[in-house]
Amino acid sequence: MGSSAQIARKKTAVVIGAGPNGLAAACTLAHAGMRVTVLEQHTSAGGGARTAELIEPGVLHDVCATSLPLAVSSPCFQDLDLEQCGVRWVHPTYPMAHPFLDGTAAVLSRDIGETAESFRDTHDANTYSRLMTPLVQRWPDLIGQILSPLRIPRHPFLLARFGLSAIRSGLSLAHLFKGGRARGFIAGLAAHSGLPLDQSPAAAFALVLAAAGHAVGWPFVEGGTQQLVEALAARLIEYGGSITTGCPVSDARDLPPADVYLFDVTPRQLLQFAGDLLPQSYRRRLARYRYGPGVFKMDWVLSAPVPWAAGKCRNAGVIHLGGNLEDIRESEREPHQGRIADQPFLLLAQPTLFDPSRAPAGRHVLWGYCHVPNASTENVRDAVERQIERFAPGFSHVVVGRASMNCQHLEQYNPNLVGGDIGAGLYNWTQLFTRPVARLVPWATPNPRVFICSASTPPAGGVHGMCGCNAARAALNALNRL
Ligand SMILES: Cc1cc2nc3c(=O)[nH]c(=O)nc-3n(C[C@H](O)[C@H](O)[C@H](O)COP(=O)(O)OP(=O)(O)OC[C@H]3O[C@@H](n4cnc5c(N)ncnc54)[C@H](O)[C@@H]3O)c2cc1C
Repeated sequence: MGSSAQIARKKTAVVIGAGPNGLAAACTLAHAGMRVTVLEQHTSAGGGARTAELIEPGVLHDVCATSLPLAVSSPCFQDLDLEQCGVRWVHPTYPMAHPFLDGTAAVLSRDIGETAESFRDTHDANTYSRLMTPLVQRWPDLIGQILSPLRIPRHPFLLARFGLSAIRSGLSLAHLFKGGRARGFIAGLAAHSGLPLDQSPAAAFALVLAAAGHAVGWPFVEGGTQQLVEALAARLIEYGGSITTGCPVSDARDLPPADVYLFDVTPRQLLQFAGDLLPQSYRRRLARYRYGPGVFKMDWVLSAPVPWAAGKCRNAGVIHLGGNLEDIRESEREPHQGRIADQPFLLLAQPTLFDPSRAPAGRHVLWGYCHVPNASTENVRDAVERQIERFAPGFSHVVVGRASMNCQHLEQYNPNLVGGDIGAGLYNWTQLFTRPVARLVPWATPNPRVFICSASTPPAGGVHGMCGCNAARAALNALNRL
């Protein structure tokens, strides 16, 4: 046993928040020998990775995250061997389909060639293959680099190749292509960033998501994303840690004594209840942290699969619904100007087509959201359902029940969703790479006992646990120096 493990063994940590990053941090610290307690305000662990019966008994909905390309790629989750704790990945035939109003669809297939072919344009097919092939061939190196702490790159040429395209705006990446199909497809991927399409680095999202689709797929977890949380919690218990739920932390002075505190919260909450622990200059920098647009989230119980006009959509886990580049561009610009598009771009997922364990026979679920202005309380249910109906005539006839959450509901559900922002902060150029503030070790604060481990730190949002894992390593390093 090395000396760092011996130091860790005598130490205690409190993790505030049991989201995937809080749990990953807790597992990393507990595995190193620390005594770890996780305090969670909600009645269950999981944060943005919970599954619940929202509408009908026996029908399971992922309340937040559902499609998990980053989780399946995560070095942290691989180290924890979550499959051994019961996680089963469910791979849709196509990770994603992008339908058009003519009743056809471009598809993100595991096969680059099939995706390229779905653009129906030789120039665009060649451009796509040239762009994607090197990223997909070196996916483990690339994603390892993207998810790890910023450091001298191990694969500088690969990273440079990725970076040259990734620093573009979504619009500029889409304009590498000539035809409407490829442009719409790229725009839909870039829209995951929550940025207007003419802002960089939205292209980074498109490239990572497309490459992940080819390299590892966009799987669901059998039974719902909650199963991933259960596996993380089981690992933590196995390593001797504990989780207390129903325990909101509103003042850091009330926290139990510990050697280090790791906060799975965003800068706004950290300032609210732990501001006294931090020097004024750092507090001022945290206060400048910016949040992104909110989302309007919807879940449906259906009596049958969505009747998509484009047949390929029936074989896809995720649907990007917005049609052509211009329509998606307008839809993604509006929330940044305080408005909601009449025909909002939708991200939809249909897990029960591939995972029957989530609903009884004769029932399907549909999951979806669109971007709206931060903190919007508007109910955009009708606009969302009209948009689906355009691409799937007869959709309304299969709807059995629905639930929706506006930005306010989302923030009440999980205080990390500030104003309904699901990215734990805006993904503009500075905040994607240096969040929450520019520091050599961004998980550390000037207080050597206080760390941030949420998606407001690198490598940012998504269920992958790497923010937590990186924060825990920073805390262990700091303890070694104390
Ligand atoms: C609608 C939606 C859809 C999404 N879709 C996807 C997807 O398909 N794929 C994907 O990879 N990602 C998706 N995400 C993003 C993903 O859920 C987040 O990036 C991820 O959960 C961040 O993990 P985290 O641990 O940093 O924070 P969170 O998951 O937000 O967890 C933070 C935890 O801290 C707790 N907490 C906060 N304040 C306190 C307090 N004061 N005291 C005690 N506990 C507190 C919260 O209750 C919560 O449990 C989605 C998010 C949303 C909201």
